[in-house]
Order: sequence, then C-alpha cells, then structure tokens
Amino acid sequence: MQIGVLALQGDFLEHSEMLDSLGVKVSTVRLPRDLDSIDGLILPGGESTTISKLLETSGLKEALLSRTDLPVFGTCAGLILMSRSIVDGRDDQFSFGYLDVEVRRNGFGRQIRSFEADIDVEGVSPPPMKAVFIRAPVITGVDGGVEVLGRVVYDFGDRGESVPVVVRQGSYLASAFHPELTSDSRLHRYFLEAVVEA
Ligand code: GLN
Repeated sequence: MQIGVLALQGDFLEHSEMLDSLGVKVSTVRLPRDLDSIDGLILPGGESTTISKLLETSGLKEALLSRTDLPVFGTCAGLILMSRSIVDGRDDQFSFGYLDVEVRRNGFGRQIRSFEADIDVEGVSPPPMKAVFIRAPVITGVDGGVEVLGRVVYDFGDRGESVPVVVRQGSYLASAFHPELTSDSRLHRYFLEAVVEA
C-alpha cells in the first residue's frame, strides 16, 4: 500500500511522518503523475484558498476529478476542500464535494485561533482522542449519506452546540482538527483500514 500526501502547501510533512511511523509507504503529491502509484490520498491542513489555487495550476484538480476511486482523508483545510459547499467562502474557492457537508471557514471564531479538546471518535478506542483545532472550519450541515464519527461540544458565546468534527462518507474521511499534530495516529490507522476495504 502506498499513500500520497498532497504537498502543495500546509502541514504535509507532519502527515508524512505520521504515516512513516505506521510503517506505510508514503509519497508526496505535487503533480498529476504522482497520483499513478498511490492507493489513498491525504489532504493536509493549511490555507484552503491557497491549496485550491495550487490544485488548479498544478493540473491536480482535473486529475483528481477523474480519479473517483481514490480514498481521501482530509484534515482542517483538507475537510474544506472535500466539502460539498463552503459558507462565506471566496467566490473562486474550489472544493471537490467528496462529502455531502456544508462548512464555514474559521467558524470557531477568529479571535479564538486555537483550542484543544478531548473527544470520542467512533472507531478509535479507547477514548478520548486529543483534538487540536487551529482556525478550524465548522461543519454547519450534514446530509444523510454522511456518518458523523465524532463531535465536540463548543461554546459559541451566545449558544453551546455539539458540532460534528469527524465525518465519513464511503472511503472519504475528514476531521476539522489536526491529528497529525499529536502523537495519536489512530485516525490515520482508521483511514488505512478504509483504504484496504476500498
Ligand atoms: N482556516 C484555514 C482555511 O480556511 C484552515 C486552517 C487549518 O487548516 N488549520 O483554509
């Protein structure tokens, strides 16, 4: 099995190191031909508008749109790129629509740039999983085909809400937080199982 990590911008190195630690063959993806040898792809955290532009200019957007069989795991900005729709996104911002979810960029509030929470994730045991959120998107809508595997209870000031933060639809998996910035590789392992299933 070989897993590609999209390496246009963002924390792709951390993802590669985590996969390395699991003994998986890892390669970086910067050009369409880099997709040929991989069985699964990781979309890292970073700046989704920048990544979306670079996907376009590198030719990877077109190439990925024709590789519908490829399992994908996205974290934070990666989740934004996988979503069906982006609230308050830039007009020219592209997303693949792998997951029937709606997201709001920086939805946890700009002033609170980052926070950590212990959460329960279905398929990751024993709980908890430490989740690191950095200017993370909020999932504001989830369609029927999407499984919500984890939630965080968040105080938005005017209201408290239980927000989905790990979602799966077939062989597409995404988290609003960054497991790659912790030493907990269980969500990556969960993704590898989905790749094997696929
Ligand atoms: N705020 C970033 C975006 O909207 C995502 C942040 C992240 O990936 N840590 O693209």
